[in-house]
Amino acid sequence: MGLLVVRDAEAVLTMDSAGTVLRRQSILIQDNRIVAVGDYGSLVSGFGSPDEVVDGRGKLVLPGFYDMHTHVAMAGFRGLASDVGDVIYRVFWPLERSLDGDTVYRFALLGGLEAVKSGVVLVADHYFFMDHVARALSEVGVRGLLGHTYMDRDGPFTGERELRAGLEFVDRWSGHELVVPVLAPHAPDTVTRENLRYLGELARERNLFLHMHLAQTLREFRVVREETGYTPVRYVERLGLLGRRTIVAHANYVDENEKALLAHSGSLVVQCPSTYMLSGTPFHAYDYWQLGGNVAVGTDAPCYNDNSDFFEEMRLLVYGQRVKFERSSVWRAYDLLEMVTRQSARFVGLDGGYIGRGALADLVLVDLSSVRLRPFLNPYANLVYAASSGDVDTVIVNGRVVVRGKRHLFLDEERVVNQAEAASRILLRRALDEDPELERIIGVDKVI
Ligand SMILES: [Zn+2]
Repeated sequence: MGLLVVRDAEAVLTMDSAGTVLRRQSILIQDNRIVAVGDYGSLVSGFGSPDEVVDGRGKLVLPGFYDMHTHVAMAGFRGLASDVGDVIYRVFWPLERSLDGDTVYRFALLGGLEAVKSGVVLVADHYFFMDHVARALSEVGVRGLLGHTYMDRDGPFTGERELRAGLEFVDRWSGHELVVPVLAPHAPDTVTRENLRYLGELARERNLFLHMHLAQTLREFRVVREETGYTPVRYVERLGLLGRRTIVAHANYVDENEKALLAHSGSLVVQCPSTYMLSGTPFHAYDYWQLGGNVAVGTDAPCYNDNSDFFEEMRLLVYGQRVKFERSSVWRAYDLLEMVTRQSARFVGLDGGYIGRGALADLVLVDLSSVRLRPFLNPYANLVYAASSGDVDTVIVNGRVVVRGKRHLFLDEERVVNQAEAASRILLRRALDEDPELERIIGVDKVI
């Protein structure tokens, strides 16, 4: 790759540690790194003419978002679960029993496309048939912190073969330009003590991230307590699973001591507010943040909350916690943006999430021509409280322009949508044949 310039951006939110905002500046990218930020004329005289120019006029540029917990392939289940309770056990597992690699690939292309068009440059994702998800996300062109979900019981795919698949996945995708493979035990109630311990030790030995659900549902809470005598958080803590390389999704059913334990463990606690709010689940993002914990935002699949608009997710995190604490001083818009860019990048160990010399070139250009973004006086507030996925004009990942003019440059979007739609209908039919009870739970007569 040669020189790429984002020229004359109306504003640049650098998200550097000083929170610098620049006006009418350009960003020079060589290969996958930002080389310089400054006046266009001086960049050209210093580095020569660029090979490619992205027009930044009328646009706000900021570092791309890190979606730290999602399952993009679950985009294929959109609309089937949002008004149903206990969806994991009553809807998703029965549907997932009918999955195959090709279906997961088509769903992951759809979910990945939705993510990148929302300004997401990295997804932390674990699921079944994970090679197919990783292939789809590579074609979408986003970074992935990816793991093959492992379960010993209850779920759609369990057992020794799955454990092997998870380990082989790590070997196969190690060293990939955009993928960081991780280990992904599903949750403390679905993986045996022996295998939780084994995966924890393996993660430490090989310096891999561990990505798991924790204290997500009341059912998990009850099962773990009945079988171990401990709550989920205390149980995984005793097994030595928490720490700087552990990503914990949810942590909703916890007491005050467990909140502190998690925050002080250095684990990343990922919060997916739209999922919680839609299902009436309590969440504690602000507590974790105030305790000095590492906190990040996730969309948790486009079927829990029926979209993966990352702006909405940030906004709902603030709204939800302000209602909980009954005060408007819970976070500023800037805090949210910092959390989903520089701080998430730092946790992952990538030199990105900010705009400055040497940083990874992962950028989002937001179209400021939308009426909902004018007047443009406070870029942080406008972004978090007013913008939406539809305002994302251009996305650059690892120095490559992936989305431009609100269209993906390499994927045929219509084809992706049509193929996912067809695969979704086939899967639903298959799942209904296998488990007629689903028809009543989903209320199929109302959705198709
Ligand atoms: Zn999840």
